[in-house]
Amino acid sequence: MKKHNFSAGPSILPDSVIKQAAAAVLNFDNMDLSLVEVSHRSPQFDAVIKKAQKLVLELAGLENKGYEVLFLGGGASLQFLMTAFNLLPEDGKAGYLDTGTWSTKSIKEANILGEAVVLATSKDKGYNYIPKGYAIPSDLAYVHVTSNNTIFGTQIMDFPKVNVPLVVDMSSDIFCKELDFSKFDLIYAGAQKNIGASGTTLVIVKSDILGKTGRTIPTMMNYETHIKKDSLFHTPSVFSIYVSMLYLQWVKDLGGVAEMEKINNKKADLLYAEIDRNPNFIGFAAKEDRSIMNVTFTLTDESKKDKFEKLAQEAGIHAFKGHRSVGGYRASIYNAMPIESVQALVDVMKAV
Ligand SMILES: *Cc1c(COP(=O)(O)O)cnc(C)c1O
Repeated sequence: MKKHNFSAGPSILPDSVIKQAAAAVLNFDNMDLSLVEVSHRSPQFDAVIKKAQKLVLELAGLENKGYEVLFLGGGASLQFLMTAFNLLPEDGKAGYLDTGTWSTKSIKEANILGEAVVLATSKDKGYNYIPKGYAIPSDLAYVHVTSNNTIFGTQIMDFPKVNVPLVVDMSSDIFCKELDFSKFDLIYAGAQKNIGASGTTLVIVKSDILGKTGRTIPTMMNYETHIKKDSLFHTPSVFSIYVSMLYLQWVKDLGGVAEMEKINNKKADLLYAEIDRNPNFIGFAAKEDRSIMNVTFTLTDESKKDKFEKLAQEAGIHAFKGHRSVGGYRASIYNAMPIESVQALVDVMKAV
């Protein structure tokens, strides 16, 4: 039996996606060739990337609104620098909300190219909440936020209202719930958490925000390079893009993002209800900021650790240990996670 995969990333994929990807590795599109040995410029692969781009715009409700969809290399981590390169003028300032490890890393990269102004931080409480009610200066080139804090298990419910481009790292919660995606000017997400396999990063960018910094941007770092060549400026990760296309189609077939949200809410409610009910556990994140993707919690009585972990192992629960910076446990219950797996974890929690 397959394990219940709570891994934070790379993470669970829908079974049907894994099966289709495996079949394409053996024989892609009846070419009698493997997906991973054909040209990224073949008409067959071109159809894959075009379909993936179309699905992204459809699921986000962003068709015909001036957005471009790219599949790039370098992970979400490269986007920390790439966003700044493309949006931050020399001597410019950008506002950053510091909600944890990934935000902190994005701030570090922006400071290489200009000034990252920290609008607010939740560091004072170990990043267990999302700061609210902070002031936003008027002289910023853009504002950057992390929508879901994968490590700490917090998620932004209300995005800041700004009149400069709003940039968001959605690596661990893209398409987990309905949003007005048009309020963002640039969205990026490493595929390996919520929409695919590792090796590609989705970027959705409103093209009219580009080309305004006055700086010379290295070719590979320039979004305009990749837009002009439709993500095929250089050899992309064909396998990862293929898996993303399948995953996005899976979300669409399920009923789209609205349906995905209903399922995700059920899973999160089930797990948080047990954390709140069971005196053996305590949640890490502030209740109003709880993520529906990464659920962080600890045991109230450390002496139950061995029993809990043994029961979990016997039940086939995989990768639910907390990040080393937080400790305790983290159940990543991304889009592809079936509710049965969440129930399996809850059953173990009840048995401790
Ligand atoms: C995992 C993660 C990243 C880093 O992604 P890579 O693709 O490994 O570079 C960045 N931001 C968030 C919110 C993440 O969860």
